[in-house]
Amino acid sequence: MKNNRIIVFDTTLRDGEQSPGASLNIKEKVQIALQLERLGVDIIEAGFPVSSPVQFDSVEACSAEVRDTIVCGLARTLEKDITSAYNALKGAAHARIHTFIATSRVHMEHKLHKKPEEVLKLAVEAVRLAKSYVDDVEFSGEDAFRSDPGFLKEVVAATIEAGAGTINIPDTVGYAIPNEFGAFIRDIMENVPNVNDAVISVHCHNDLGLAVSNSLMAIQNGARQVEVAVNGLGERAGNASLEEIVMAVNVRKDFLNYETGINTKEIYRTSQLVSNLSGIRVQPNKAIVGANAFAHESGIHVDGLLKMRSTYEIMTPESIGLIDMKIVMGRHSGKHGFKQRLKDLGYTLSDSDLDVAFERFLDVADKKKEVFDEDLAAIVEDEIHSVPEFYKLDYFHISSGSSTIPTSTVRMKVGNEVKQESAWGDGPVDATYRAINAIVDIPITLGEYSLRAVTEGTEAMGEVSLKIIINDGIVITGRGASTDILEASAKAYVDGLNKIKFKM
Ligand SMILES: [Zn+2]
Repeated sequence: MKNNRIIVFDTTLRDGEQSPGASLNIKEKVQIALQLERLGVDIIEAGFPVSSPVQFDSVEACSAEVRDTIVCGLARTLEKDITSAYNALKGAAHARIHTFIATSRVHMEHKLHKKPEEVLKLAVEAVRLAKSYVDDVEFSGEDAFRSDPGFLKEVVAATIEAGAGTINIPDTVGYAIPNEFGAFIRDIMENVPNVNDAVISVHCHNDLGLAVSNSLMAIQNGARQVEVAVNGLGERAGNASLEEIVMAVNVRKDFLNYETGINTKEIYRTSQLVSNLSGIRVQPNKAIVGANAFAHESGIHVDGLLKMRSTYEIMTPESIGLIDMKIVMGRHSGKHGFKQRLKDLGYTLSDSDLDVAFERFLDVADKKKEVFDEDLAAIVEDEIHSVPEFYKLDYFHISSGSSTIPTSTVRMKVGNEVKQESAWGDGPVDATYRAINAIVDIPITLGEYSLRAVTEGTEAMGEVSLKIIINDGIVITGRGASTDILEASAKAYVDGLNKIKFKM
């Protein structure tokens, strides 16, 4: 690999999924992994297998589907973690085990209750064990940036010696300032004798809004792998954003002179897919992928652009794949056209999922003459997001108005039984939820409820996402889409109930 090639390690599915409010099921993770592969990332960190059965299964599912890209599983330095990561990665064409332990004093003393010598020993043993399973091993010193530099360098040297091919230096709490972080990386590059036997990586958090700047400084000081997430997702304020680093490297090639393996034309589609599936919308003024990133409002700017695009445009919308995506579909589009458009939007569905989604599409096309990309995304997400239907909405009737008490009658299938209840409430949605509660009889409370119009106009599909809080404080998300917002509301609630039933 050329010395100016930057390795892109994507952690959208691991650190990104730890974003508050994000929840992805296994099918959704596989969709994202396949799109990340198309985008051209070098490594996909698919999850933390030992942490839960769902995490294990997701890493296993991504390993089975992804063929060209390295799939990585996270593990603490514990034997059970590393073995679990290995087992989840067995089916991968290219597997990496990523093991970590904290190296900063505050973490070692207060979290691990371990002395530095013990931490060093655990790190080395973990790398050796991982190396006995797979060839490609990465080691991270958690909270590396706040670690004693002398001790950290000792750990770096010893884990390289033990066989780690990549050493990651995270700024776990997002505390570093760019120049300072650059100097920190330089010190490692210059003073660890065997540093050239490994790739030095960085993993920057965005608590001070400096994750991308810190990552770029690290590259300029010798780091050759960046850990990033699509749309900057991640714990708290998130990780360094993939699209920002990649486009900075691309647009400022004259100054930075590095390259990545990313096909930038897939950036926009990837961002949309992650936004839609994770439920975390991109802020409009977000760099590169925000809705306003290429929108010019002021008269002076528009005038300049019309005369010469480069007056106010440092990169083109086409370079991130933001072309005129407004293709309108309808009944006449047929199954082939439907399948093709989904592919263009980044979805790869199995034949059976495709059949179900196509039926929904025809249904929507009947109610709504023009079906837009956003509608297609809502339909597909509804289908692939869905869980087995123990509870199934069969029928509902709502009566509501300015001078009536909103009442709702709901009939549902519960397993093999059919149950029906009526209830009144503050509004039609409340009444419907009360009726459903009377049917299912599970102690729950509704947390957030949000309704979004998928496209413009009164014919638009409505998408409801909500959070249901179970008695022990666990939060489950539900989602539903329909041209009727009351139906979307009921579907979202039932989706959440099915997830509770199947513990997803
Ligand atoms: Zn992180």
